[in-house]
Amino acid sequence: MPKSCCAVGCSNHNMMGKKFSFFTFPKHPERWKKWVNSVKRVNPDGSDWRPSKLTVLCSEHFLSGRPSTDPTHPDFIPSIFKHIKTDSKSSESKLRRFAAASKRKLHVPSQTPPKKRFPAELPSLFWN
Ligand SMILES: [Zn+2]
Repeated sequence: MPKSCCAVGCSNHNMMGKKFSFFTFPKHPERWKKWVNSVKRVNPDGSDWRPSKLTVLCSEHFLSGRPSTDPTHPDFIPSIFKHIKTDSKSSESKLRRFAAASKRKLHVPSQTPPKKRFPAELPSLFWN
């Protein structure tokens, strides 16, 4: 089944021979909404666009080439789109900041077992 990226101005699909990955929209409603907002697509009749279960985004829209399930990671929400001016320097520094922050976290000694990173229900505060 051919998959093509739903992003505006992006025509990547899996029959191109290039190595793109394709990702379906997240199931978590809040995160789903953020993805939809990032895509900023509008139906031809002007109504709100909604992805279907088969709608996919390609790896080109993520700083690291794939979505992250870590809410503190810049790739938790896709951020590279034609309608958003992204200069590669700021994208890189976002990733670097994240990497630095993760490293710092690792240095903190922890007595408690690691908590599940992505609980099904997150308080909405967490997302803002
Ligand atoms: Zn794409």
